[in-house]
Order: sequence, then C-alpha cells, then structure tokens
Amino acid sequence: MRVQVAIIGSGPSGLLLGQLLHLAGIDAIILEQRSQEYVLGRIRAGVLEQCMVEMMERAQVAGRLHAEGLVHHGFEILFGGKRHRIDLHGLSGKDVWVYGQTEVTRDLMAARTAAGAKTVYEAENVSIHGFEGTKPLVRYTKDGKQHEVECDFIAGCDGFHGVCRPSVPPGAITEHERVYPFGWLGVLADVPPVSEELIYVSHERGFALCSMRSRTRSRYYIQCSLEDQVENWSDDAFWEELKRRLDPAGVARLVTGPSIEKSIAPLRSYVAEPMRFGRLLLAGDASHIVPPTGAKGLNLAASDVHYLSTALIEHYRTGRNTELDAYSGKCLRRIWQAERFSWWMTNLLHLFPENGSFGRKMQAAEFDYVLTSRAAATALAENYVGLPY
Ligand SMILES: Cc1cc2nc3c(=O)[nH]c(=O)nc-3n(C[C@H](O)[C@H](O)[C@H](O)COP(=O)(O)OP(=O)(O)OC[C@H]3O[C@@H](n4cnc5c(N)ncnc54)[C@H](O)[C@@H]3O)c2cc1C
Repeated sequence: MRVQVAIIGSGPSGLLLGQLLHLAGIDAIILEQRSQEYVLGRIRAGVLEQCMVEMMERAQVAGRLHAEGLVHHGFEILFGGKRHRIDLHGLSGKDVWVYGQTEVTRDLMAARTAAGAKTVYEAENVSIHGFEGTKPLVRYTKDGKQHEVECDFIAGCDGFHGVCRPSVPPGAITEHERVYPFGWLGVLADVPPVSEELIYVSHERGFALCSMRSRTRSRYYIQCSLEDQVENWSDDAFWEELKRRLDPAGVARLVTGPSIEKSIAPLRSYVAEPMRFGRLLLAGDASHIVPPTGAKGLNLAASDVHYLSTALIEHYRTGRNTELDAYSGKCLRRIWQAERFSWWMTNLLHLFPENGSFGRKMQAAEFDYVLTSRAAATALAENYVGLPY
C-alpha cells in the first residue's frame, strides 16, 4: 500500500491528525495495535482548553462537545481547610470544557468511519524504517499476514510506550525526566459531582481532586503511595479517605456509589527532544508526559497536531517545508511552558513528606501569593486555560 502519511496510533493525537489531513485531502492511514473497543474503554483526561475546542471545530467534530460538554468558568482550591475560587474567565477571558477523552476519541472515530478513511486496528509488530531518507516504510502484521505501507511521512502518535520514539537512534534524541514519589488513585462513578466546578485539594494527608465527566458521572482522585495496589482499595476505603481530605461542606454534599473504574497512575514529567527526525514526526505522549495536575496531557497532544497538520498541509499545497522545519521548535516551546505549569501545580498541591515543614510553609506562602496578587492569580489562570498556539 502507498499513502502520503502513515499515522501510528489511534489515540487523540493520531485521530485528530487523521481527521485534519482527511479534510485537507491528504491520504493517510492509521495503524493501531489495540482494538477499537479497547481504545474507547481507556479512561483518561477530561478537561479541554479553549484552543482544543477550536481544534475540534476545525476538525468538524465538535457537535456533541457543544451539546454535552460542560463549560467551566473557574475552579476551586481547598487549602488549609478553606476553599478559594480561581475565576478563570474573569482573570483570563477564557474558559475550559469538561468533556471526556473517551468522548473526543468516539467523535473522531465516528468521523473517520463516516469518511471511509483507512484504519487498521489490532495491527501487530508495527515497525518503522527509512525515515532518515526519502522513502519511509511501515511494516505490520495483521491476522498473521505481513503488510508494508510506503509513505512520504510517518507521524509517531503512538503514546509513551509506542514504537516510534525508541526507533530513533539513541544519539539523536535527548530525554529529560522527573518522576514524582507518589501516584493518583482514581475512581470513576455514576454519581453527581460534589460541586459544579473542579476542586483541587491540598491536605496534610495528601492531594485530592474532585472532577467530573458529566452532570451524572464523577471522577475523583487521591494522592497515593507508589507501592499501593488498586486491589487494596475497596470503594468504601476510597470514599472514606476522600472525605478525610475534604471540607465539611464537601463531605455533606459528596454522593458515593460503586466505582465503574478504579486505577493508579504514576506521576511523571518527561520530554524527549527534538520531535522531528527526517520524515518521522512525533506528536503527543510519544514525545512528552506531564503530571495530570495541570490538565495538560490531552491538550498538548492537540497543540502538537495543530503544528503538524499545518506543516503537512503547507508541504502538500505549496511544496514548501517552512512549517515542517519549524515543527519541533514551535511544539517544544509550548510543551516546556506546559511542563513548567504542571510541575508547579504538582509542587503547590501535593504532600512531599521529604520536604518537611519548610516545604509545607513554602506551599502556603506560594498559595497566599496567588490569593493576594492579581498578577499571580492571572498567571495561574492563563496557564490553566492554555497558552495560545
Ligand atoms: C492513566 C492515564 C490517565 C490520564 N489522565 C489524564 C488527565 O486526567 N488529564 C490529562 O490532561 N491527561 C491525562 N492523561 C494524559 C492523556 O490521556 C494523554 O496525554 C493523551 O492520551 C495523549 O494522546 P496521544 O494520542 O498522544 O497518546 P495515547 O492516547 O497514548 O494514544 C497512543 C495510541 O497509540 C497506540 N500504540 C501504542 N504503541 C503502538 C504500536 N507499537 N503500534 C501501533 N499503535 C500503538 C496505543 O494503543 C494508543 O491507542 C492520562 C494518561 C494516562 C495514561
């Protein structure tokens, strides 16, 4: 088979790129190692920046997002037992949308099916070749048969554990990493959210987040030890621990119920740079990870795809490679800003026992500054709603 662009991975970055290329008349295939049902079953992000909503509009898949997504004008931080609201709209003029990654994926998959675009699910042993020259090639196995795809470009949208980044010669890539000494235990439950807006909780027992996917589905997290196992946390134990970290008003309003998903995610900051290697271009989690505290992972995948689709469209429409040459630099500038913000939010709100009472005092001083300085609060809000592309 021959296509113009071979996209590896059908997560948000691969699907969004596929849709934008399709609308521009560029022939692309998506190769995904998992089944469609498996990809749709993954519970992950749920807060979209305004720029990402605009990307969904450009991709002509924002109908359900506008009908069902919840617009949030602010969020609360519960610190030292007191709640404080961050007025995102008042401070930045922008909002965020609560709409699950699963729904983003579902909408993009539906558009792809409607367009009759090529996707191979359960593609095994995907390997990429020749991207440093002019004739890249992708090999994969499907139902025991070997296949080859010739292409002009390979888009590595295959997430942190994918095959594309490890295929780059080690000397050509530089990695930067910070692994945090805790994880997030998350529970998804069909119960109404405790509050209209998200509540970020900094408590002496550890961080917690009250989030939601809709008016009837809630997503809650508590900071946990990296040694913890999901099996050791009954639903009751989770709700009890969450209550210990909430204020009395929150406890009174909290509706508990059986979990429909429960998992532990480690927290990591990671960037591999650059993001272009000849005709291989990395996007999304394939090249960077942020701790979820700043709600940036999915949104960064969208901004990478903005730059990548612009570059490929320029290449095919005009023959120029100005945007392709600028791709890595433009993405990384925004990525490092999001890395800084996610790291800052993580440091502000989590319990770091090794930092002792001095560390806790530093967090309190930082938070006090956010509450008393409009400039500091605006910096928080501007970053939370997302820096412009
Ligand atoms: C457990 C978890 C919880 C998260 N929670 C949040 C959150 O609360 N807020 C937030 O903002 N972000 C969160 N994130 C981050 C966010 O979900 C990611 O940033 C986002 O999914 C990135 O999209 P992507 O398309 O780049 O990568 P992915 O979504 O990882 O998609 C990559 C795709 O490539 C496929 N693939 C992998 N290897 C191969 C291969 N060899 N061949 C073919 N296909 C392959 C995978 O199956 C997958 O479908 C979370 C991530 C995880 C893992």
